[in-house]
Amino acid sequence: MATKSLRSFLENGLTHLKENGLYNEIETVHGANGPMITIGSKNFINLSSNNYLGLATDARLKKVAHEAIDSHGVGSGSVRTINGTLDLHDKLENKLAAFKGTEAAIAYQSGFNCNMAAISAVMDKQDVIFSDALNHASIIDGCRLSKATIIRYGHSDMDDLRKKAIDAISSGKYKKMMVITDGVFSMDGDIAKLPDMVEIAEELDLITYVDDAHGSGVTGNGYGTVKQFGLEDKIDFQVGTLSKAIGVVGGYVAGKRTLVDWLKVCSRPFLFSTALSPADIAASLKAIELLMDSKELNQKLCENGNYLKQGLEKLGYNIGTSETPITPCIIGDEKETQQFSKRLYDEGVYAKSIVFPTVPKGTGRIRNMPTSAHTKEMLDQTLAVYEKVGKEMGMIKESL
Ligand SMILES: *Cc1c(COP(=O)(O)O)cnc(C)c1O
Repeated sequence: MATKSLRSFLENGLTHLKENGLYNEIETVHGANGPMITIGSKNFINLSSNNYLGLATDARLKKVAHEAIDSHGVGSGSVRTINGTLDLHDKLENKLAAFKGTEAAIAYQSGFNCNMAAISAVMDKQDVIFSDALNHASIIDGCRLSKATIIRYGHSDMDDLRKKAIDAISSGKYKKMMVITDGVFSMDGDIAKLPDMVEIAEELDLITYVDDAHGSGVTGNGYGTVKQFGLEDKIDFQVGTLSKAIGVVGGYVAGKRTLVDWLKVCSRPFLFSTALSPADIAASLKAIELLMDSKELNQKLCENGNYLKQGLEKLGYNIGTSETPITPCIIGDEKETQQFSKRLYDEGVYAKSIVFPTVPKGTGRIRNMPTSAHTKEMLDQTLAVYEKVGKEMGMIKESL
């Protein structure tokens, strides 16, 4: 039974959100999260998942997941440091290190957990972290958990990073210094300026931390953003997720053996939260094998991304500066953006609107996430709907 104070806190909070259009109604998907999804009894072209390579529903992954359940059960039975480390975990971690081109890797239960785990295992209140202004929420929370001083630098603004790092050194206030960034930024699809960042880090002795959740499976022929720039030796922490392109659930940190040894004794989600399950590990392993064996899925993803981008651009939409398949369609006004998304929905295209405060005011957008599993027909249908809705709402010109 809720106390009076809790009840009024919750009721007032919910009312406030609903009155301001900030309350998110969650829609349940019936069945799998593939290129088409079913909500209620209606089918949609799905442009809102992170299932970039279609692996979440891949038959080869399902098969090994079933086999792992038969051989190892549905749960790992414990945290990693007691007796929850199964042979499967070792296999996965070796494979992840090979995939990322590092000495070692450590797996966690999610990408979010990686950032809870790794930052605070190394940084503390005598230290400072330079964090890109558009970093993911889990990076922000991970930094906070470490109690280090957090200094934000302008998004991908390497001059600002250098200046703030030099100021911090001059102040003499801090011990260790870290720079932390997304590899691929999820709202615009732009890529972090890693070569410049590494140059600054080497000059000023900054620890380097790249969370490439949207990069792995996507950039660098599928190997990720760090590999794309050939910086495997220069980035101290390569964080990734098994939940997006890999199609399953989980996360990992790849780096030097000493770093992984340290995380295995000091990072709290590794010590105090139950290990990844056998089915998740087996499916993730298979996904990484597929990625390393063939570029086919990655190429299809890039083709589909480019096709959608070119189509939207030809219709006259502003698709921003994406360097990845993430395809924002920038509408501007928040209300109009939400209406636009609603109209797409009516026409059978599921593409979420993203507005302030997730992105700056006046840059409301529909974020399209094409995958390798979309057919050309689905993308053509999407473009036809964009044309129809855009003309109807006066966003794009009637053809001459
Ligand atoms: C999605 C995302 C995460 C969270 O990964 P999960 O495996 O879904 O917990 C962490 N970091 C970044 C940069 C992300 O985009």
